[in-house]
Amino acid sequence: MRTGIGYDIHRLKRGRRFLLAGAEIPYFKGEDGHSDGDVLAHAVCDAILGASAMGDIGGLFPSNNPAYKDADSMDLLRKAFSCVKKEGWKVASLDCVIICDNPKVLPFRDVIRNSLAAALEMPFDCVFVKGKTTEGFRKNAVEAYAVCLLEKQ
Ligand code: MG
Repeated sequence: MRTGIGYDIHRLKRGRRFLLAGAEIPYFKGEDGHSDGDVLAHAVCDAILGASAMGDIGGLFPSNNPAYKDADSMDLLRKAFSCVKKEGWKVASLDCVIICDNPKVLPFRDVIRNSLAAALEMPFDCVFVKGKTTEGFRKNAVEAYAVCLLEKQ
């Protein structure tokens, strides 16, 4: 068994979509980025790649590569997972923290859990997502942490 941790932060910008693991949350700003900016998909990607010692999201999908301009980050996560799976790993557990003051992510928790469970081919009840605020310290960014446990099949 191996554990992995992933972290990411994206600036919020008007006119961008606010995406968490592919779930679009209605808000007037969204994550800026070379890809679609999905901060949680990126953190989870790094957690599973780190646990399997297979690299990181920047190495697999470089942001200077035009192929990943506006990329669907859930596609990137599925690709990273297929690399990890090929090495014989399955994701036994995934726990995430999303940090932002607005929008509120709690109403979307189960949609996000479902999306991650489907992408990583794991049971819904082995994925959890928690929301935290910064109490106004950081209004213009969203952060995500992810911790996973991989099990060799
Ligand atoms: Mg990112």
